[in-house]
Amino acid sequence: MSSSTFCSMPFTLNGNLKLVQWRNVIYSSNNLVAYQPLKLATARKLLDEIAKRTRSSVADLHIAGCAEGGNFGNSNAIDDLFGESVMDCASNHMDEQYIIDQLRYCSSEGILELGELYHALTIKTGIWFNKFVATALVNMYAKCGQIDNGKMIFDRMSCIDVALCNSMVCGYVSNGMLSEAFAFFIEMGNLDIVPNHYTYSILLSACGASTAVKEGKQLHAQIVKLKLMLLTAVANSALTMYSKFGMIEEAENLFQGLANRNLISWTAFISGLYHQKAFNKALTQFCLMRKNNTEPNEYTFSVALSCAASIECHDYGCALHAQVIKHGMISMVFVGTAIIDMYSKCAELSGARKQLEEMGRIASCATWNAVITGLVRNDEVAAALEVFHKMLNNDIACDEYTFSATLKACSLLPSLAICRQVHSRVVKGKFGTNLHVASSLIETYAQCGNLEDAEKAFCLTSTPDVVTFNAMIGAYSQYGYPTKAIFLFEKMVEKRILPTSFTFLAVISACSHCGLVQQGRELFESMTRDYGILPEEKHYSCMVDLLSRSGQLENALEFINKLTNEPSAPIWRPFLAGCRFHGFLEMAELAASKILEHDLGDASVYVTLSNMYVEAGKISDALKQRALMKSKSIQKEPGCSWLEVNAKVHRFFSGDRRHIDTPKVYYKLENLMQKIQTDCYNLAKTSILNPELGQVTEEKCLFHSERLAVCFGLLNLPKGTTIRVFKNIRICLDCHTTMKHISKITNRDIIIRDNYRFHHFKHGCCSCGDFW
Ligand code: ZN
Ligand code: ZN
Repeated sequence: MSSSTFCSMPFTLNGNLKLVQWRNVIYSSNNLVAYQPLKLATARKLLDEIAKRTRSSVADLHIAGCAEGGNFGNSNAIDDLFGESVMDCASNHMDEQYIIDQLRYCSSEGILELGELYHALTIKTGIWFNKFVATALVNMYAKCGQIDNGKMIFDRMSCIDVALCNSMVCGYVSNGMLSEAFAFFIEMGNLDIVPNHYTYSILLSACGASTAVKEGKQLHAQIVKLKLMLLTAVANSALTMYSKFGMIEEAENLFQGLANRNLISWTAFISGLYHQKAFNKALTQFCLMRKNNTEPNEYTFSVALSCAASIECHDYGCALHAQVIKHGMISMVFVGTAIIDMYSKCAELSGARKQLEEMGRIASCATWNAVITGLVRNDEVAAALEVFHKMLNNDIACDEYTFSATLKACSLLPSLAICRQVHSRVVKGKFGTNLHVASSLIETYAQCGNLEDAEKAFCLTSTPDVVTFNAMIGAYSQYGYPTKAIFLFEKMVEKRILPTSFTFLAVISACSHCGLVQQGRELFESMTRDYGILPEEKHYSCMVDLLSRSGQLENALEFINKLTNEPSAPIWRPFLAGCRFHGFLEMAELAASKILEHDLGDASVYVTLSNMYVEAGKISDALKQRALMKSKSIQKEPGCSWLEVNAKVHRFFSGDRRHIDTPKVYYKLENLMQKIQTDCYNLAKTSILNPELGQVTEEKCLFHSERLAVCFGLLNLPKGTTIRVFKNIRICLDCHTTMKHISKITNRDIIIRDNYRFHHFKHGCCSCGDFW
């Protein structure tokens, strides 16, 4: 459609013309706008704004009438009212400046509906070809995401200047259309419009934001040629761009060459250093800036605080906190949140909580998240959950980070009941399909001993990403389901999602839990060969575990000896465990000495060796190990098991009689053991060393903590529910066998998570297949 038809549409200006009619006028005149239903909230705001600005009695009257009549929900009424109000205001105040002001308002608020109305008015009154009006129209359409409409206006203009062109460039950039912005920039040259410093600043920022390095460098070269770098604003844009690219040397060169550095220059450089993890240097620059009498703004302070947090420098953080107070910026949400983050990273949680309290109502979701995350990071799990509840009570909208941090707290407890509560909040907040939250749900359910719900959460994600896959593969690995873990791994590769270092650790460890040596080896080799991921200590440790556990101790030792770095304690520990399992005393001695070289206080080494000596009949050697432990005041960690009943956690130690239900629990246990013994099972007796007597005695592992916990669960949890017990140290062979029988005779699912993995006992069998 040409510009002449655009302007010559028949109009009958009528003060009572309805909004719908106006829309039709625009629509039929140039097909510009499709009808969009007006949002109620927008309309309300609009009417208020119009009344405020124009003091139009008609608008006031309508708004008042509307509010009183309660008919605001009627969209016809709104359309009528809206149209009349706008028409009334417009016909009384028609001049170019008025229209420009109104269009600016529409741009800043993103109200396309009203902008279109003013567009129609400019057509009617013929002022649309005024270049200032046209610029305002282009801006309005660009800000409302309708850049094509802006271009249509631009194309119809006969008189074009650089300001109008800048509106177009800016419009493309703000709509994320960088290549179109550059194409337009070239078109400007064809139209003989000389770009100004503003054009370059917009494009430099755009390159920085979308890491368009090549284009950014070309632009920089052009600017140098044009001597525009002398303008601080342009130089700052280039500096910010290089900082965002992570090209800190270029940024530094620019910064050092700057004749007039202002706050923006300093902030850009300091923040570039922060992103390059050059925290100390960033803080030095911050000090220099202060010496140069440049006053920081809230953003500069936030970056400096984040630097102090990253190097966990409490003193520096406190000094910055004091400066923030002095500058009167303490109640600014951005800085306040950075202060909380700094305190929690420096493990000063009281400081973080105090800051949250002082911020009061201005604390944003990010602020609350910083407190929750800080508490979780510092193992203050119960306090983290408390803050989460407080956040809900204060009606602060949660985001994905709130839920992830809170779910992490649940998994650390672990508490299935609280996890379910948080999950219901997730659903309520419509975060159920958010991948970040879904991954947290998978991890948390798995950690709480509920693999089925973890699987459900995984299945509900329509397009799982690498984090979601990793969470589910990790869960399968911990529960000892290598086939499922490998299946998901292959599915992930099929979907062209690149596995990470964690993915490999999880699948190899799943293989290790089940003795799939060949598959584990292949995965380990494929990691570097096919994906270029270099193995870390934990991968090596996992490989040693895989080989040792399956009895290939010679191969494991060969593997360890081939390592380029000096093998550390985490490499030798699985080797020692393998020696213990397969009864290789000499190799165990070697492993023990290697571990103790790195970690003299590792009680499990002395205990393992001592037990092995007892089994080999070397009682004096066994006693020597116990004496060594005693002389070094090394104590074995007492076994402790806990479970959740009615949202309350109950703890039991081995042979513990402190729990209020002790008589019932012991009675239940003895009953069960009798039944097991008569039914099917000769109670195994484990040889243990009694250091006081200096001899070996036989002990029934009758009162080990997990048995007490399971019996408490049997007594207190409804029939048919799964009993989930958590234990701080590894379950012993005798308890493992007993649990299988208990699951059979009570017809209950029992899940025990020890410090190593999950065991799911069902119908007399364990998910680990007795290989653990
Ligand atoms: Zn035991
Ligand atoms: Zn098991």
